[in-house]
Amino acid sequence: MSAVVEPTKSPNSPNREFTLERTRNIGIAAHIDAGKTTTTERILFYTGLIHKIGDVDDGNTVTDWMEQERERGITITSAAVTCFWTQKKEAGLYKAFEAVGHRINIIDTPGHVDFTAEVERSMRVLDGAVAVFCGVAGVQPQSETVWRQATKYKVPRIAFVNKMDRTGANFENALNDMRTKLKAYAYPIMLPIGAEDKFEGVIDLVNQKAILWGPGDVTNEGLKYEIKDIPAEHQERAKAGLAELIDAVSNKDDEIANLVLEDKPIEPAILKAAIRRLTCKIELVPVLCGSAFKKKGVQVLVDAVVDYLPSPLDIPPATGIELGTDNTVTVETNDANKFCSLAFKLWTDPYAGKLVFFRVYSGHLKKGDTIYNPRTRKRERVSRLMVIQGSERKDINEVFAGDIAALVGLRNITTGDTICDEDLDVTLEPPTFPEPVISMAVEPKTKQDRDKMSEGLQRLAEEDPTFRCFTNEETGQLIIAGMGELHLEIIRDRLFREFKVEANAGAPQIAYRETITKAAEGEGKFIRQSGGRGQYGHACITIQPNEKGKGVEVENKIVGGSIPKEYIPAVIDGIEEAIKGGVYAGYQVIDIKAQVTDGSFHEVDSNELAFKMAGIFALKDAFKKAGPILLEPIMKVELTTPDEYQGDLIGDITRRRGMIINIEAKQGQTIVNAQVPLAEMFGYATAIRSLSKGRASYSMEPLTFEQVPNSVLTTILDAASKKPAART
Ligand code: GDP
Repeated sequence: MSAVVEPTKSPNSPNREFTLERTRNIGIAAHIDAGKTTTTERILFYTGLIHKIGDVDDGNTVTDWMEQERERGITITSAAVTCFWTQKKEAGLYKAFEAVGHRINIIDTPGHVDFTAEVERSMRVLDGAVAVFCGVAGVQPQSETVWRQATKYKVPRIAFVNKMDRTGANFENALNDMRTKLKAYAYPIMLPIGAEDKFEGVIDLVNQKAILWGPGDVTNEGLKYEIKDIPAEHQERAKAGLAELIDAVSNKDDEIANLVLEDKPIEPAILKAAIRRLTCKIELVPVLCGSAFKKKGVQVLVDAVVDYLPSPLDIPPATGIELGTDNTVTVETNDANKFCSLAFKLWTDPYAGKLVFFRVYSGHLKKGDTIYNPRTRKRERVSRLMVIQGSERKDINEVFAGDIAALVGLRNITTGDTICDEDLDVTLEPPTFPEPVISMAVEPKTKQDRDKMSEGLQRLAEEDPTFRCFTNEETGQLIIAGMGELHLEIIRDRLFREFKVEANAGAPQIAYRETITKAAEGEGKFIRQSGGRGQYGHACITIQPNEKGKGVEVENKIVGGSIPKEYIPAVIDGIEEAIKGGVYAGYQVIDIKAQVTDGSFHEVDSNELAFKMAGIFALKDAFKKAGPILLEPIMKVELTTPDEYQGDLIGDITRRRGMIINIEAKQGQTIVNAQVPLAEMFGYATAIRSLSKGRASYSMEPLTFEQVPNSVLTTILDAASKKPAART
């Protein structure tokens, strides 16, 4: 670590380098193209630079930097990257250069917002976010969506109006957009000096200083800035801006309100502390501006991350469920407690291999320790711990509460798993993964790629527990199944980008399920006598509905030997095979109990195959008598729309066999909760865009499976009888 960064110790853990107060876990959220990647890159550039200054004499050359820059391209797409930032200490701001080091973990947030589980998980592991907006376009429709997600998951934010150097950049417009479209209580803490090609600096309102970049070109050390008195022509704006900021803060903060009432001076440090309090409570959004591309305003932004975004101690502690009970457990952020962490992302690093990124909520973990996964009830030894730091992969020995790191080489952990001390049976996230609701057949564009493709798909399935892939035995096709159209599209895209396999895909198919409504008995016989040794298998079974969500249970009830013991597994195999393949329309059967009750055998002709066939026939026979029904996935859909489109959107949902659950008004937007069959949601993204001129957004997640109404059943059965393609 660089000498400039001052390590700060914690009494509980002598090896800790940065106290919790000096740790930030942040995400950078933005509309595509607003500059998320560039901003992240620039933060790494400047924080890396500070880091480098510590070892000044090694003569950084241009090539050094270019290489590192290239490297960064890879690292910033990683799940989390760690950097360090040295700030000048509060009291002597801009005078004394006593260094205060902070550790900042930047967590990648999903660019798409439809997979609630993934969004929720990434929102959960970060404590605050920088929302990046384009200074020209202001608040674009997708920024509204990203913003609402952050509001929903209670993530404190600061806003960065980027691209101030571009023609048409207008800070005031972007700010107004935030206030009107996002209903944000947004107030500038920095005002731009100039814009477009005259974007020369910013006014620091709190300190009433001007930060000027000067005429120099961007060098390998970035842009140097000078802190000066505010030029005369900007003084009025600066004063008005500060007054507006104080007014906004005093409306919500008693300490500042009292100072205003008593007409006392408000010291910058006091004002900053109040802004921090309100930002952490999500009552205020401080707004800054800059040009990530031109490296302007980035240092100031990182200062603001440290000044205003919460440390792990400023947010409510995580909660989990004690395994096997409904008891909620609070996981306090403290090194002295038992180790408890959440694996939030699996990532394959081109150099280090498979990494499991995790966030520690309590306790600490050392290399050589044994960890426990309550989902699998398996233990594993930690042989290597790593962080991605700037452009390097760095081995570390220990990780503490509130921090983020990666485990290397562990096999039995998947996204969403809790990793903890052995005697802590707590899960931070429910360990159940939903059934896929949609599937499609995929094949590689070129035949030789088939092996590469199935290996790639297998790897992706390991990373994402809601994604599955398998081969359809009937057709030999590779089938991928997941939580929605977009989910599978992204899988195909990753297959192409990460494994260089282009896949052709069939039309998406709904993953219907079959079940029964009453108990029934069934009999299956497989008897062949064609000279020589024949075949003889005979089984009787009963089936009945199982509780919803309980899955399939098959058991043997024969005690008297009507089927010899050695053939019972074959009968059960047959039953299970028929259940997988479906009876009614070729879709997997769920939620039934089956019992083998009776049968008969032949001394010579009986064999396993014959009993397996008898099992298949018996299940099919019983199933047909048990009031079979077809189930379809029902999605929980949440629409957020400006009021004026509400009527049209609700009408559209009703036409899609949807049921409106409730409608609420929230911050000038209408939120509609509905349940809609997935089969009716194809192409919904386009429909909602055209119905609301791009202003409404939606998210959906699988909720349950419900019986397909008769009016739609015939169509599905007809299609099923014609096409045994991509069913799950
Ligand atoms: P992302 O999609 O949000 O990750 O956006 P990127 O960081 O990839 O930026 C999208 C485009 O905008 C790229 O061509 C960038 O070079 C450009 N860009 C990003 N920040 C700025 C900026 O501050 N000024 C200008 N002029 N262009 C920018």
